[in-house]
Amino acid sequence: MIQLYIPLNFLGVLYREIKQSLTDLDKMFVLMEREREVEDRPDALPLPLAGEGGGEGAWTVKFEHVDFSYEAARPILHDVSFEIPAGKTVAVVGPSGSGKSTLARLLYRFYDVRAGHITIAGRDIRDVTQASVRHSIGIVPQDTVLFNDTVEYNIAYGRPGATHAEVEEAARAARIHDFIQSTPKGYQTMVGERGLKLSGGEKQRVAIARTLLKNPPIMIFDEATSALDSANERAIQAELKGVARNKTALVIAHRLSTIVDAHEILVMEAGRIVERGTHAQLLAQSGRYAAMWALQQQSSEPEKFVDVIGL
Ligand code: ATP
Repeated sequence: MIQLYIPLNFLGVLYREIKQSLTDLDKMFVLMEREREVEDRPDALPLPLAGEGGGEGAWTVKFEHVDFSYEAARPILHDVSFEIPAGKTVAVVGPSGSGKSTLARLLYRFYDVRAGHITIAGRDIRDVTQASVRHSIGIVPQDTVLFNDTVEYNIAYGRPGATHAEVEEAARAARIHDFIQSTPKGYQTMVGERGLKLSGGEKQRVAIARTLLKNPPIMIFDEATSALDSANERAIQAELKGVARNKTALVIAHRLSTIVDAHEILVMEAGRIVERGTHAQLLAQSGRYAAMWALQQQSSEPEKFVDVIGL
């Protein structure tokens, strides 16, 4: 795509980077309106809010025969179908470039599918407003973008207008409160490129706190590939589990140990689902997942899918 090589302007590049990193910075959409790749239909209505949409299954997410390509000449996803029943977790694993993050970008409607449908609560996401889709989804990305602003602002971004008490409650639940208190100005400490630099784990906790404040019915977790130390990682996984309780969740996983309880695990390869089932069913299939599991069990450092199946 030419625009990848000849960026028109800095904002355009920034926008694309942010879109790639799956960060839900709706603000950016306002700033860069003309960069939008999808538009609301003139008759688009919002998704019904929890309680209005009608009971059980309201927040079920479905991909039905989805095909997608970023550029016409290079198909990326082929006939992808799966369902995340309301309140359940579906995990996606597979080698780098197999299309895992693309599923998340499509659910957040950064792009529209080329064929098939994605539905939330039974509505095709192309028929409802983007704002309501994005309002219903919280993302904990691999790399959280922090604004050059205070810790308070960065957490409250999850729900503009949140009170300090609510911000603090979210920070406590995300286990970042004590760290914040230890910084020179507590919640008023400046962070980001021009402020205090946070570690990968601390940034993820800020993202978890943001998401807790937003309290959306649907969650996307993009598990970090970069190694956190394992104590930190286990703690973050425990916090994520807490956040995901009763949410409809899509987890892009690199460590299989994090997803053994998932309702369904999808193994992707070159844009197709090549194996699927629960952890136990996949082990019984003795296929790619089972091989990967065996290798991750042997190794003290979790290896990435790609490294062990040699793709
Ligand atoms: P990883 O585990 O490395 O994050 P992934 O499985 O999430 O990989 P995707 O990011 O979904 O993979 O990418 C799937 C394919 O789509 C890759 O071949 C990638 O090069 C391509 N791709 C991703 N984003 C774009 C884009 N904006 N324009 C064109 N091609 C893209």
